Amino acid sequence: MLVPIPALNDNYIWLYARENLPVIVIDIAESAPLLAYLQQHQLEVEAVLLTHKHSDHVGGLAEFKQHYPNVPVFGPTETAQLGATQIINEGEIHTAHYQIQVLPSAGHTENHVSFLLDGHLFCGDTLFSGGCGRVFTGDYAQMFDSLQRLKALPDSTIVCPAHEYTLSNLHFAQKVLPKSVFLTDYALKMSALRERHQPTLPTTLAREKQINPFLQAENLTQFTQWRKLKDQD
Ligand SMILES: [Zn+2]
Repeated sequence: MLVPIPALNDNYIWLYARENLPVIVIDIAESAPLLAYLQQHQLEVEAVLLTHKHSDHVGGLAEFKQHYPNVPVFGPTETAQLGATQIINEGEIHTAHYQIQVLPSAGHTENHVSFLLDGHLFCGDTLFSGGCGRVFTGDYAQMFDSLQRLKALPDSTIVCPAHEYTLSNLHFAQKVLPKSVFLTDYALKMSALRERHQPTLPTTLAREKQINPFLQAENLTQFTQWRKLKDQD
């Protein structure tokens, strides 16, 4: 089971579980929609994973913990004061049923991490569909390196970003990438999904290599130039 629960304006809280096993929750923008979903579907939670420190990723954690006090919360150093119970910046997490790889992916923040679980990449605000996160408290070189690391994963990787930014990203992609019928068609398809209030996510790494300029940037200079241009878009 892989479910994006819409939260706040444009966040997703991701849930993942193998059949009949407890779920893993990735980032908690706010508690209400998550608690409602868990209750409605009678789901047990095995662990919470935090990608980074921003409030639209950890804002619902305190209230969630009041309802699920025994669930471990894994996150990078920057989330230590925000409710993470186990700090992890790289390596592997072993829960009762799952093995999760932690991929350092700084750039948006200083120690943002992404999680790889059964071929699903939970990449927070590092990689979006058609785009990437803004560089806030990390730097451009870190972000470029992080994207190279994610890009090296198998093409079949299912990519689960934390925001519904696809339409704005594709608008920008069409400005900087060579004209392509595929990209135009893809943007139309995604826009039709959004008109029906459907998520454009998850995506795959293979698809992102086709539509995402930030995975096509040839070097740090080009990456930085595009990222700064997108900030003004
Ligand atoms: Zn963020």
